[in-house]
Amino acid sequence: MPNPPRIVVLGRQGAGKGTQCARLAAYLGVPHLSTGDLFRTAVRDGTPVGVQVAGYLERGELVPDELVVGIVQEHAAAEGLDDRGYLLDGFPRTIAQAELFLGSDGKGVDVAVELDVPVDVVVERIARRRVCPVDGWTTIVDDPSVAAVPCPDGHDAVQREDDTPEAVRRRLALYERETGPLGPWFAQRGLLERVDGVGDPDEVFDRILGALRARGLLSAA
Ligand SMILES: [Zn+2]
Repeated sequence: MPNPPRIVVLGRQGAGKGTQCARLAAYLGVPHLSTGDLFRTAVRDGTPVGVQVAGYLERGELVPDELVVGIVQEHAAAEGLDDRGYLLDGFPRTIAQAELFLGSDGKGVDVAVELDVPVDVVVERIARRRVCPVDGWTTIVDDPSVAAVPCPDGHDAVQREDDTPEAVRRRLALYERETGPLGPWFAQRGLLERVDGVGDPDEVFDRILGALRARGLLSAA
């Protein structure tokens, strides 16, 4: 049986990255490391890095690459991730972060899976997203003119303020600038697998497994 795989998942907002990462981590039995979650936990617990991160967020500034990498390294060491494999979700976000964490040869990871979903598709998908402000329950409505749907607990799930098409296009442009160059960076190191992320989540998941199998990263079982 191969060592537990170390995987980076790339994909623009709305590409279904969170959903696929959660499924993949459960399937492979490797820790799912979301930098968004790490940040929130560090800020909430008021750890030394958390205090620094909170400062940048309050000033509306980007968290510097060294600090982001520091948080992930600290967590990876504490959890012994070198031996357990991992799935990185939302990290690295820039080439600088990739080089700091994975090395300039990218050897810290076995594969980078890029979920490929066209901009127009994710803009349209996010426009139909409704989120419960109380518990975070999320759904995609069929009709974008529907303002609110009840969550299972009876609250109104509504469109988030930053889910308007204009705001989404701004976030996507930032992603393109910051993270877009990572695809070619991984490709040059022979580590990139592009997976078509359009369609039924079950089909997308099967495509991801197919790409991992082709690289010998799935055990026979
Ligand atoms: Zn609710």
